[in-house]
Amino acid sequence: MSAVTDEAATLPAFDVAIVGGGLVGASLAVGLAPGGRRVALIEAAPPPATAQSWDERCIALNHASQQIFAALGVWDALAPEAAPITSTHISEQGRFGVARFSAAEAGLDALGYNVPLRAIGQALWQRLLQALGTTALYCPAQLQALQRDDEGATLQLADGERLRARLVIAADGAGSRVRELLGIGSARRDYEQSAIVTAVRTTRPHGGCAYERFTPEGPIALLPKTRDAHTCSLVWTTPAAAVAARLAAGDAEFITAAEACFGERLGRFVELGRRQAHPLARVLSDALRASRVLFVGNAAQSLHPVAAQGFNLGLRDVATVIEVLDAAGADPGVAAVLDDYAARRARDRERVAGFTDHLVRLFSNRVPGLRGLRHLGLLALDLAPPLKQAVMWQNLGFGGDTPRLARGG
Ligand SMILES: Cc1cc2nc3c(=O)[nH]c(=O)nc-3n(C[C@H](O)[C@H](O)[C@H](O)COP(=O)(O)OP(=O)(O)OC[C@H]3O[C@@H](n4cnc5c(N)ncnc54)[C@H](O)[C@@H]3O)c2cc1C
Repeated sequence: MSAVTDEAATLPAFDVAIVGGGLVGASLAVGLAPGGRRVALIEAAPPPATAQSWDERCIALNHASQQIFAALGVWDALAPEAAPITSTHISEQGRFGVARFSAAEAGLDALGYNVPLRAIGQALWQRLLQALGTTALYCPAQLQALQRDDEGATLQLADGERLRARLVIAADGAGSRVRELLGIGSARRDYEQSAIVTAVRTTRPHGGCAYERFTPEGPIALLPKTRDAHTCSLVWTTPAAAVAARLAAGDAEFITAAEACFGERLGRFVELGRRQAHPLARVLSDALRASRVLFVGNAAQSLHPVAAQGFNLGLRDVATVIEVLDAAGADPGVAAVLDDYAARRARDRERVAGFTDHLVRLFSNRVPGLRGLRHLGLLALDLAPPLKQAVMWQNLGFGGDTPRLARGG
């Protein structure tokens, strides 16, 4: 690490530079805007001003995430598009064991809300554009090089522009360029599956229930998509070899196959939206912090969507950064601040990443003994109150060091 040069002292200077303005980076920029620090957000894609900028995914926000968005002042904009999830129903194809969770058991109105990713993105960017006095947007702009010294970092963008920051927060996704520039490795597990996502209308109402059904090929999930009682978002985990055929199939053929996999709980599928495939892998960064740098969201950990936890976990990263920086002194990039963040996030991250990965592997394994174990597991979950309570609590987002914002503070 070198000393700051005279030339660096002439560059635009910030307390925090966030690299990546996806859901996690944008949430962080919104959360830091009122804190009085000078913040820059660098996002490679053009400003997402239109609905077409975001993909078709819906994100199931758990209770903790809803609380965080309320604290950030974003929830009111999301509420009209948020479908409440009042219960969940987890089953395995060809078996009777079922695990059920309800909001009433948790003493809540809803376990969470399913919200179009587009709606979350638009609400966040609208807030960002309102905060232009305190947040500088570099967009579209791609981080190309990063040099650190004793007092901060110099970030170089692809167009040659440079800026200074005391702290760099990498929110640049699973293939993080910041990680690459710093030579930080990651552990990658390729699941050789894609999630095909679409919307579907069903003849029976969803009744606010999120269904997940495990099949030998992978899970299929139907979640309430809108407040309309018959529209669900469908997430169908598909082996890599079958993805192209499922995307190319006619609507009728796709519906027949999806119905056969899901069963009849929601009646017949009668209308289908646009289909999109997302290849699935787990990527865990080897570090949550480096000198003058923190990692959040998918840049820190990218998970299989089977338990709908990736963004929820990333939003707890965001809430923790806000908390840690609130308590920090003038320089937010000193080692004590970075260590504090990494220590607070380690347990939650390890638990959720481990739980998600075990779920994928347990339920995608066709070994006969494991089928019995899965069956027992689902029954135990449904029948053993302490176990059920623990899993439910975790899925609500209250497992590790719960950040204050997630507790409505
Ligand atoms: C099918 C599917 C369903 C899911 N469902 C759920 C769910 O129900 N609940 C849930 O909690 N999670 C869910 N997830 C996970 C969730 O989508 C992700 O965790 C979340 O979107 C990650 O956001 P991010 O901002 O960290 O990363 P990204 O969305 O990858 O954003 C990274 C951003 O960084 C920018 N960038 C990259 N490199 C640079 C650079 N060099 N310079 C500047 N900018 C850069 C990119 O343009 C991008 O905008 C799901 C995922 C999938 C695939």
